[in-house]
Amino acid sequence: MLKRFLPNEHVKSIYEIDPLTLKEKGIKGIITDLDNTLVPWDVKEATPEVINWFKQMKDNGIKVTIISNNKEERVKMFSEPLGTPFVFSARKPLSRAFKTASRQMELKKEEIVVVGDQLLTDVLGGNSAGLYTILVVPIVQTDEKITQFNRKIERKIMNYFRKKGMIRWEE
Ligand SMILES: [Mg+2]
Repeated sequence: MLKRFLPNEHVKSIYEIDPLTLKEKGIKGIITDLDNTLVPWDVKEATPEVINWFKQMKDNGIKVTIISNNKEERVKMFSEPLGTPFVFSARKPLSRAFKTASRQMELKKEEIVVVGDQLLTDVLGGNSAGLYTILVVPIVQTDEKITQFNRKIERKIMNYFRKKGMIRWEE
């Protein structure tokens, strides 16, 4: 049952996710989390690096949708300048927002990867929706209050995976 929390892949940051490698695997779309995945949770706007990452994806024909459990104001203010579709108050790990995003991108499940920094929302939600999941290391070690509780559970699950040899990365 805990397998639902196991990402297909683990990277240090979104910058290890490269459009050409995705294309080779037949990936045409990314559903990404916002807070602590693209920027620290308390940074309001995209950094030049993030803007460039989105541009690289676009130039290679890879669609990106941001889905976030955060409020409309936060998600909209971040996403609109990037010109990228977004879903706010997504209620991850429920799979509804993942399905909405997949449908709006007009892509099949096999053509999408989910990127995020949390096992309990991004990975569980992506896996439950039948999508390929990539876990990134949170950009900063602090979190919004609501996330701090999830992190405690996450650490327990991570330790279990480590003990079982199901993951090999170190943090
Ligand atoms: Mg996050």
